[in-house]
Parts: sequence; structure tokens; C-alpha cells
Amino acid sequence: MNKLLTSKFKYVLIAVYLLCDYQAVLARIESLGIGINLLIFLVLYAVTAASLFLVAAIRNTPLRLGFAALFCAGSIFIQAYEWGTRQPFTYSAFLTMIDSRGDIADAVYQYGDVLWLAVPIGLLLFVAIALPSRSVRWPQWLNIAGPVGSVALLSALLFVRGGEGATALPAPFAPTAFTALYAGTSLTSAARAKEAVDIPRADIQIKRDIVLIVDESVSAQYLDINHADGVASGLASPPPGVAVANYGYAAAIHNCSVGANATLRYGGTRGNYKQMWAGGVSIWDYAKRAGMRTVYYDAQRTDGALQNLMTNEEKARIDQFVQLGEVPIVERDVTIAARLADHINNGQPEFIYVNKVGAHFPVHDRYPDSAILYRPFLPRGHHADQDDTGERDGFAGFDGKAQSWRRYRNSYRNTLLWNVSEFFDRLLGKADFDNATLIYTSDHGQDLHERGDPGIGTHCGTRPEQEEGLVPLVVIEGKGAKSHDWQGSLETNRNRASNYNIFPALLRLMGYTPGAVRKHYGTALFETIEEPLTFNTEYYAQLGREPVWKEIDIDRIVDPPTSDYTKP
Ligand SMILES: [Zn+2]
Repeated sequence: MNKLLTSKFKYVLIAVYLLCDYQAVLARIESLGIGINLLIFLVLYAVTAASLFLVAAIRNTPLRLGFAALFCAGSIFIQAYEWGTRQPFTYSAFLTMIDSRGDIADAVYQYGDVLWLAVPIGLLLFVAIALPSRSVRWPQWLNIAGPVGSVALLSALLFVRGGEGATALPAPFAPTAFTALYAGTSLTSAARAKEAVDIPRADIQIKRDIVLIVDESVSAQYLDINHADGVASGLASPPPGVAVANYGYAAAIHNCSVGANATLRYGGTRGNYKQMWAGGVSIWDYAKRAGMRTVYYDAQRTDGALQNLMTNEEKARIDQFVQLGEVPIVERDVTIAARLADHINNGQPEFIYVNKVGAHFPVHDRYPDSAILYRPFLPRGHHADQDDTGERDGFAGFDGKAQSWRRYRNSYRNTLLWNVSEFFDRLLGKADFDNATLIYTSDHGQDLHERGDPGIGTHCGTRPEQEEGLVPLVVIEGKGAKSHDWQGSLETNRNRASNYNIFPALLRLMGYTPGAVRKHYGTALFETIEEPLTFNTEYYAQLGREPVWKEIDIDRIVDPPTSDYTKP
């Protein structure tokens, strides 16, 4: 009797599990309206939901536990994403997460509050499937064929529909189907086309350093060089002898780190960036051909872990590969400022690419106490009682509500004061810019929920606010250097440039010939830019999908709310 009860009980748990997502199902039904698409959705829902009951009826314990673990993980993953971002989980979002997997610890921190709900619900499914199964009236093979068939059916549908259409289906199926698709497509595209681009180069010796600093999550409107209510950047009044050309509001390549950095390293226009990436000729190759030493600073990863689609093959072209595992995270950017100055002053021509720590979430502890200016801020990890007026002491101290976002924005500002302002103070005070041209930008901007939109995501969204693609873009040079007419180009290019214009500018600085650079890589930053101010929200553009361009309307950029703080 007891055993019979447990065997029935597990099916009740599955029904309860499905009910937990009833709001998403209702919303989906409403959005589809009456018609063939609703019918397809209902059939798919019935088949996948039935598969959960079939899986639970598998008699073989290891096999059943395997499915339980897989489906539990898939469920937690997708619910945390959808409830956290309030955006649909698409194949593009899945690929983004695969390539950003190094950020998992940070994501768990930021998404802590949503996980409090998604994890128990996922575990409920695990228990429901894992409980012992009694014999059923249908053949055992159906218990395996059902879920496997469902995943195959869903994969086929997602393949045809460019990775969309799984919204509100029982949670574990979309991630499982995406994983199957991912395995399938990576097998077929394993051979990367090697199509070297031939760009001639003037026979000149490069005598200076060329530096590209890619900050992290720095949204242009939060800096004083772009907005009256912005935070000190260290760039507004440079030391005499240093010229700062400020391109104002610029468009990112993509609203997520991976694609943004990959295209900064491999170049390409909005039309051909995928071919350029596939071609496999990176900025390191061009720098070496120009006789420069290549240097990479990655402040975000440690112990040789590679990110942003860098491969060992690419890494082999970098003469000096630097990570700063021994330096506390809060000290890494300012440490790099000092080392960069040494590079610039060492008299050896180097190309240096820097991925800073910047202002990626969680921003609670990205700055020292000395950089506290904006209050109230988020509770600080190990100093929760120090100078903190927070009434919450939750896991992350962050729940996505308006008061939390206000504190988040203040922590973000304090972070900028340290990782941007202090960074440039130290760098500009020490480096001789007659020996260098430095381009500064950020990989992407931020949605800090100034408009009160719900959710806890800040970037990488599938339906981003325009500020997720809004980045600063600045060129720093000694006043005597004049490598190109950066200042003159501001007349046409201020608030018009994008990070697509950086790669051709780097090639021109390295002496590559203008016509060929323009033909393959587009307009350089100092040439007249005519493209619209857009960033890509569908970077991977797989399964037959095309890139999707989000245009930035300068007149509608959200102001950093001054009501967040009392005037510092
Ligand atoms: Zn990023």
C-alpha cells in the first residue's frame, strides 16, 4: 500500500511542478491568439508534458536518475534566466551563456534571489522523477522513446524556427533541445574556413605603442565626458601635453562581452563580421606583420583560462599573455594602469589589448572604501556593517526592486570612480603619450533599470534597452603625436561612431593601406562615418537567422537619475 502511494505521489508532484509555470503558459496562449500556432503549441505542450510522466515511469534506476538530473538542471537554468531577465530564452541566449560560462559565479551572485525559487522547483522535479517507479501498463521502451522523441521533435522545430518557439513549454525541454542542436551544429561546423585576407602594408617602421582598452560594462552616459550627471572619468581634464578625442556616444558591436570582444579582435563590418571571424586572421597577426610585439592583459580570468572565444591557436600569437590571479580583483585595473605606463614608456613598439575588470556585476565590492562617494549603495560582502544602511542582508542583497536598483547604480558609480577615474588618473599621470595611441571603449553598456523595467539583467538581453549597446569611445595621444586627425574627425563622427570602426583604425595605425582596409573592414574611426548608430542583438545569427540591429536614438538616452543619491 505504502509503495503504491509513493508511486502515485510522484505523478502528483510532476503535475504540481507543471502548475508552477502556469503564468508563463497563460501568457504564451494569450500572445499566440486563436489559430494554428496555438494548436501547434498545445500539441507540443501535451507531448512534452506527457514525456515528463513517461520519464518518471522508467524502471531502470540509474537511467531514471540520469534523466532526473538532466531535467532538473535544465529547469533551474531556464527558469532562473526567464524569471531573472523577463525575456524569452532563445538559442541565441543559450549560445551566449555557453560562451560566457566563465561568468557563472558572478551570475549566481546576481541571480541569487531568483535561484531561491528556481532551485526548489527544479528539485521538486528531480524528486518526482527520482522516486521509485512501479510497473506500468504500457511497455518500458515507451518511457524512453517518449522523452527522447520529444527532444528530437522540439530540436527539429527550433532548427526550422531559428531557435525560437520553446517559450512556456515544460522547462527542461528547451535547454535539452538546445544542447542537442549545439552538439549537432558544432560537429558540422568544426572545420573553420581559413581564408586569409590580403591587406598590403606600407613599408614603414611603427615606432609607437598601439593600445586598445576594452572596459567592461561601462555605459557611456554614466561618465562625465558624456553627461552632466555622469561620474568623474579621469578623462575630462587630461594633463597638458595629452590630447583626448572624445567620440561621445558610440554603439557597441553587440550587447554581450563575447561577441563584442571577438569582433574587436577579428574585425569585420556589420555585413561581414561572421566571415572575418571564420577567416581566423586576428589583430595579433596584423600587429606581428607590422613588426610589433603583442601583449594581452586579461584582468577577468585567471590561471590561463581563455574567454571571449579565444583559442589556444590564437593565444600562441600573443608574445606576452598576462592574467592577474595574484592581484585582488579590486586592485587589478589600477595595477594594469601602472604596468601599461611602463609598456608605453619602454621604447619598444607594442600592440596591447586590455580586457579590464570594469563594472561587471556584482558591483557590490568592486571598489575600495576610499572610492565611496555615492550612497546608499549595495551591502558590501565582508563589510556589511560598515557604512551600510542596507536593511536587507540576503544572499546577494539584490532583488531587482526599485530601491535595489538605486543602490546598484550607486555601487556602479563608485566602481566607475575607482576602475575608470582612478585608472586613468594613474595612467595619464605616468605614461608618455608621445609614444602611444590609445583607444578606449567598453565591450557593451548597461541597462540599470532607470526606466523602472522589471528583472535583474544588466546586459546580454535578447530584447535589450538601447543603453545596453551604448559605450564610450575615446582616443588618447600626445599632443605632438598626430598619427591621424582624430580631433578633426569629431566634427562628423561625434555621437556617430561604433566599435566596428576601431579595427580598421588599428590597421591604419599599423601602416596598412587605406583602400584595402576599407574594402575588408569598413570605415576607420577617423574617416567620415556614415553608417547608422546600431548594435547587434543577434550576434550568433545561427539556424538561418540574420543579425538584428538595434538603433540608438541619442535623444532618448536615459539620464542617470540624480535622485539616486544626495549630491556628493
Ligand atoms: Zn561584458
